[in-house]
Amino acid sequence: MSALILIVEDEKDLLMTLDYNIERDGFRTRTASTGAEAIEQAFVEPIPDLVLLDLMLPDMSGTEVCRKLRADERTKDVPVMMVTAKGEEIDRVVGFEVGADDYVVKPFSLRELLLRVRAVLRRARTGEESEDEITFGRLRIDTPGHHVWVDEEEVKLTALEFRLLTTFHARRGRVQTREMLLSDVWGYQAEVTTRTVDTHVKRLREKLGEAGQYIETVRGVGYRFRARPDEVDE
Ligand code: CA
Repeated sequence: MSALILIVEDEKDLLMTLDYNIERDGFRTRTASTGAEAIEQAFVEPIPDLVLLDLMLPDMSGTEVCRKLRADERTKDVPVMMVTAKGEEIDRVVGFEVGADDYVVKPFSLRELLLRVRAVLRRARTGEESEDEITFGRLRIDTPGHHVWVDEEEVKLTALEFRLLTTFHARRGRVQTREMLLSDVWGYQAEVTTRTVDTHVKRLREKLGEAGQYIETVRGVGYRFRARPDEVDE
């Protein structure tokens, strides 16, 4: 049976658009437009397979809803994808503090949203421990906790740098164009240009130190994360 998505959004038009398109993409849906309604709907059997949760709700914040879901035995493992309009909140909502599994930033494209929904569901379904903890040469990544270590020393990354790194790793061995990274890591935001990609990759490399060499520049095209840590440059 197709996955059931609980969509929580107080903007009526957006809620309808999301509901229509997510259902059309083959999912079952349930909707809520307040935090209280979201919590009520989350506990109705069958329990949703994923909650798409707006951060700014009229009665309480999405982070509060997320904490309540995490605190209940029935919903503690249900993946939560936070929908946020504020870039500065992202670091707080994903990872350990609030417990959201992923996020999208408004305005987002439906294609981007559905890609991320599928990725989160896939991760939740396989439930593989190995997926939660990635080791690649000198690099270690704790995916749910959003922690990264290089040679066992923790590296502090922003949510965006973290997503950039995990996207690179997931597509290792394959060239990623700046446009692909822009659409899949940043989403569609008018103020972001392909130069932004270069700036962030540079910063990510610097933070990763010795492990930064795993991200190679492909001249005129974009970037490529090594297929294997010991891969030698040709
Ligand atoms: Ca809202």
